[in-house]
Amino acid sequence: MSLDYTSLLLAVGFSAACLGLTLFGMWLTARSERFLLTWAISLLLVVGDIFVYDAYIDMPGRLLGIATIALLLLGFSTMLGAAYQFRTGGSPVRRTVLGSLSLVVALPPMALGYDGLGFMFENTFAALLLFATAREYWKGRDEAPALTIGITALYSATATSFALCAMVLAWDGKLILGHAPSNWAEELSLIIVIASMTGIGALSLALNQGRLARHHRRNALTDPLTGLLNRRALFDLHGNGPIGAFTAVVVFDLDSFKAINDEFGHATGDDVLRVFARELTSNLRPADSAARMGGEEFALVLKRTLPETVEATAERIRTAFAACRIETEDGPLTCTVSAGFAFGTNDGMSFDKVLSAADKALYAAKRDGRNRVAASAFRRAS
Ligand code: GH3
Ligand code: MG
Ligand code: MG
Repeated sequence: MSLDYTSLLLAVGFSAACLGLTLFGMWLTARSERFLLTWAISLLLVVGDIFVYDAYIDMPGRLLGIATIALLLLGFSTMLGAAYQFRTGGSPVRRTVLGSLSLVVALPPMALGYDGLGFMFENTFAALLLFATAREYWKGRDEAPALTIGITALYSATATSFALCAMVLAWDGKLILGHAPSNWAEELSLIIVIASMTGIGALSLALNQGRLARHHRRNALTDPLTGLLNRRALFDLHGNGPIGAFTAVVVFDLDSFKAINDEFGHATGDDVLRVFARELTSNLRPADSAARMGGEEFALVLKRTLPETVEATAERIRTAFAACRIETEDGPLTCTVSAGFAFGTNDGMSFDKVLSAADKALYAAKRDGRNRVAASAFRRAS
C-alpha cells in the first residue's frame, strides 16, 4: 500500500487545527482554565510547523528547515507546559522555556547545511518533549486513572514514533540529506500522530469536564468563607439515615455576634467566623464532620462517642475560642460561643430531630447566660 505523504500531513494539520480551535473556544467560555489557552497555542505552533514542513518538502532550504524545526519544538515545549499547568495549576513558562532550549542544539546543524543531523536532533527532542508530557499525565493519574493513563499511553506512542524517525535517520547516518526525510518511520509517525491526536483531544476534554464537575460539586457543598462543609453537605452526609445512640450532633452559635459586626465591621466579623471554624476543625477526629449551617451557626457530628466525650469536646472548643484574641484595627477583640448537643436513639432518630433537639439545648445555654455548653433535655430524660 502506498500512502500519499502530503495528504497525511494535511490530515494532521486539519485535525490539529480543529482541536486547537475547540480548545480556544473552550477557553473563551472558561477563562480560568488557562491551560486550555496554552494548549491551543501549542497546537497553533504545530499547525504552523505542518504548513512550513509541507513547503519544505517542495522546496528544501535552510530558512524553511530552521522554521519547521523551531515551530515543532516550540509547539511541543508549549504542550509540555500546558500539561504541567493542567496537572498543577502552576505557570507553564518554566517547562516551555526549558523545552525550547532544545533549539540551541537542533537549529545550528540545519543552519550550517547539515539537514540530516538537524532532523535527527529535531525528532530526538520531539520524542523527549512528548515523553515528558506523557510523564506529567502519569504523575497526575490519581485524578481519573483510566483517562490519564490513556492520555499517557497516547503521548508515549507518539513520542516513540518520533524516536523511531530519529533512529532510522541515525541508522542511515547521512548528515546531509538535501530533502525532507522520507522513510517508513516518517509515514508511521504521521499515522500515529493522527490517531493519537484525536484520542488525546477526546480524553483530555473528558478529563477536564470531569474536573469541572467535581469542582462545581465541591463548591456547592463548601462554605466559601470558612472552607467547612455547608448545611446542604451536612444533610447529604447525615440526613438520609437514622442517627444511632452513639452519634451526637453539637450546634454552636457565636454569642452577641451582631454587636461585633456593629462595633468592628462586617469584615472583622468574617475574621471571627474563620477563627471559630479553625478552632472547630482543630478539635476533630477524622470520622467527625463540621459544617457552617449559616450566619454564625455551626454544627458538629461526632460518631461513636459518649456524652462525656461530646461535652468535653464542646467545652474544649468553647474555652479555646474564648481565649482567642483577634487583632483588629480598633484593638483586640474576644468572642464567646454557646453550644447545645443531642444524641440519636437506639432505634434511630432522624437527623432533623436530633438537630432540633441540639438547637433547643443551645437556646437553653443562651438563656442561662451564654458562653456555655448544654445537653439536650431529651437525652437527660431518656
Ligand atoms: P446571640 O448571642 O443571641 O446569638 O446574639 P447574636 O447577635 O449572635 O445573634 P443574632 O442572630 O441577633 O445576630 C447574628 C448576626 O450574624 C447578624 C448577622 O448580621 C451576622 N452574620 C450572619 N452571617 C454573617 C457573615 O457571613 N458575616 C458576618 N460578618 N456577619 C454575619
Ligand atoms: Mg444565630
Ligand atoms: Mg449568635
